[in-house]
Amino acid sequence: MLIVVVLFATVLLRAAIVMTFVYLMLPAKRVCPRCGAKLALIRHTLLRVLVPAVEHRWCLECGWSGVVRQAQSRVIKRAARS
Ligand SMILES: [Zn+2]
Repeated sequence: MLIVVVLFATVLLRAAIVMTFVYLMLPAKRVCPRCGAKLALIRHTLLRVLVPAVEHRWCLECGWSGVVRQAQSRVIKRAARS
């Protein structure tokens, strides 16, 4: 039983490492990586619930669409508004 727990822990650790690197590889700026234009936010309810640290954005100039890191947390945005 102990070996199962150890193997499961290593699988979880590998998944965490991969997700961290993928998150760090995502663009953090809100400009298009192709043309440099400002990106429009596409709201996804499921993505917002499952992975709140990323946003789906779309470039109005060249049509690029992709996932970017959230530059500022929603908590900080809410605090800044009030
Ligand atoms: Zn673009």
